[in-house]
Amino acid sequence: MTNCVFCRIVAKEIPAAIVHEDEHTIAFMDAGQVNPGHVLVAAKGHAENLYELNDAQAGALLRTAARVARAIRAAFDPAGLSVYQANGKAAWQTVFHYHMHLLPRHEGDGMALTWPAKNPPREKLAEYATALRESLRRS
Ligand SMILES: [Zn+2]
Repeated sequence: MTNCVFCRIVAKEIPAAIVHEDEHTIAFMDAGQVNPGHVLVAAKGHAENLYELNDAQAGALLRTAARVARAIRAAFDPAGLSVYQANGKAAWQTVFHYHMHLLPRHEGDGMALTWPAKNPPREKLAEYATALRESLRRS
């Protein structure tokens, strides 16, 4: 038995209100329900974060997220929907098994996110892009 709570949900060792399952993904209601219809979409195989997903998992997770998002829209008619996904403690990840939140939103629902844009000069953006293209070429 693993100590990972999401692996235990996948294994049906602890209960969850499951919305969808397929080969690579599981979607279930977030116990906290920031707003009604708040769903977590998680990888079935243990991967701690986005960096550890294989291509099959990554593709399946976004496919499931899009399908469940449409179901949330149809069932709960939210004014909007936020997708939230965190990698590492600095990004506020608290459960170290890859998952994304599908969070129905409403005006004045109390959710908050600061976005401290730094607006660097264009040359800096080009420098960042070059570094990432080189990193992608090596991967
Ligand atoms: Zn796990």
